[in-house]
Amino acid sequence: MLPSEVVYNVGKDEIFRRDNFKCVMCGKGTVDGVEVVIQNGQTLCDVHAVMIKGLEPAEIGKKMFLRFYEYAKEFDDKDLLKLSTQALEFYEENGINGHIVWER
Ligand SMILES: [Zn+2]
Repeated sequence: MLPSEVVYNVGKDEIFRRDNFKCVMCGKGTVDGVEVVIQNGQTLCDVHAVMIKGLEPAEIGKKMFLRFYEYAKEFDDKDLLKLSTQALEFYEENGINGHIVWER
């Protein structure tokens, strides 16, 4: 059994519900008329499912935290802003995925 299978050994419905039937990258979902799929244990729209194919998990993570960061700023979610800022700082301090730019 692969490690990813252990982590994501949950039902499809559970994943969709956890992610609110919305793409974790762009936030679009079935209510916006966008088809969503499950890939690597997360909900993604068609566009992002194709886009992240071939990306390393760390890259996916950084993009996800970037999305959280933008969301937190937009909705003034201080806890999420703190979490995503810390995560993105960790990426930058350790020189991980420097090609994915974080615009503060
Ligand atoms: Zn998307």
